[in-house]
Amino acid sequence: MSYKFILTLEIMYITASKLYDYIQCPHRPWRDIWGPQEEKIQETNPFVEMLWEKGIKYEMEVIGKIGEYLDLSKGNIEDRYTQTIEAMKAETPLIYQGVLTVGNLRGIPDLLRLQPDGTYIPIDIKSGMGREGADEESGDEGKPKKHYAVQLALYSDCLLKLGFEHNRKGIIYDIDGNEVLYELDAPQGPRNKETFWELYEDIREKVILLLGNQIQNKPAYQGVCKLCPWYTSCKKWVMYSDDLTGMFYMGRSWRDTINQDLGVTKIEDILKLNVDDLMDQKEKDKSFLKNLGRSRLDSMVSRANVIKNLKKPIAYNKIEFPKVQYELFFDIEDDPTQEFVYLHGVYERSPQGERFLNFTAREITHEAEKQAWSDFWNYIKSLPENDYSVYYYSHHEKTTYKKLQKKYSDVITLEELENFFENPNVIDLYTDVVLKNTDWPLPSYSIKALAVYLGFEWRDKTPSGALSIQWFNDYIEKKDEQIMTRILEYNEDDCKATMVLKDGLEKL
Ligand code: SF4
Repeated sequence: MSYKFILTLEIMYITASKLYDYIQCPHRPWRDIWGPQEEKIQETNPFVEMLWEKGIKYEMEVIGKIGEYLDLSKGNIEDRYTQTIEAMKAETPLIYQGVLTVGNLRGIPDLLRLQPDGTYIPIDIKSGMGREGADEESGDEGKPKKHYAVQLALYSDCLLKLGFEHNRKGIIYDIDGNEVLYELDAPQGPRNKETFWELYEDIREKVILLLGNQIQNKPAYQGVCKLCPWYTSCKKWVMYSDDLTGMFYMGRSWRDTINQDLGVTKIEDILKLNVDDLMDQKEKDKSFLKNLGRSRLDSMVSRANVIKNLKKPIAYNKIEFPKVQYELFFDIEDDPTQEFVYLHGVYERSPQGERFLNFTAREITHEAEKQAWSDFWNYIKSLPENDYSVYYYSHHEKTTYKKLQKKYSDVITLEELENFFENPNVIDLYTDVVLKNTDWPLPSYSIKALAVYLGFEWRDKTPSGALSIQWFNDYIEKKDEQIMTRILEYNEDDCKATMVLKDGLEKL
């Protein structure tokens, strides 16, 4: 068998990572095989690499304290498969990194654990929470994560087909050391009666067809693209094709609905839509343009007009800001993988001039995080009451501060925090101004997209919040002050960009 043929067989296997990729972006499995390979970015994104490393480190930690197990993590894949089958036949209690291959399915669960009835249950170790949306306060346990469920379903499917399981179940060993049982025959939620198993079967079949080039789907310009090696390639396609996802707020599913129901595939054709006629048609046929109401359709037509005709930003209402002595442009940096806020940055503009202030945790400890937050509030309290305004971009700051308040309730009371964000001089530029009052000839309304449009340049050539997290983790390990300077400069530039945007909005 030639090397190339073996390679082709390997990439045609349905694996847990291909199912994960499909959930992230249904176009990815196809593009990985059939896309223009010369356009794929070869270097791994440093943030993605950091997540992998963290995942592996955690897995090693867990494995180190799990007791006796059969290690099948090394060697060639065919041998590992044979050894896995033999080990399961011999009722080995715990198998690490066994290989399950059946037809075109291949699963490598972190652990296979023997059950009292002689069957096996697959276990995956994850450096994240076992469920999503859990809330300690309300006692809500949260719900299973779709991508975890689908990966466990693949392992379970292999075990069923190999005759080593008769239940559709799996376990996630999560970051808190909890074993979270996934009942794969359970519905996905109270409103979604489709079971996780049915979801898995549906995704598995689509991935098989995509890998075989029997079906194709289109790229879409979306948030998840930024960490994908196909980012530049797909963005180029979106722009060249004048695809609808090149318009802000147009996700893949609305794009597909419009493509299918109206045959409209280009932004320029959105301009020709008559929203009144479409609404009449919707009245007669409820399945027509599902989830797209009048206001969404109107916004699409306005945005298409800004992109194709006006070619410059537009304000639909007069935008006014508070006239005060102190203007603060504020941005935080946090690492969601360990729920840690390491930097509160403020660019201050006052009659005395401009300056950047940072309140930074230089260690990953509760004390350091609390001290930085406390210093930030002391600074805010030192400002002349009613003579300052604060600008930030998106609800992230507010949401994160609510969590910090719960964690360190002796720094500031909930009432004080709520009063701060309810103050009309404390303004979320994205939610309260950009979204409600403006449109831009851009596919994204992120602070980076808008500030760059207004002529602002970050000192760092590859600025991103994800990279800042990677730099911070690097700093913690090496304590290299040059890395800290890079983090601070990036945050300062984010704050300045908010200032540039505020001034730009005022001029609109
Ligand atoms: S860049 Fe975006 S559309 Fe393209 S494969 Fe990646 S996630 Fe999908």
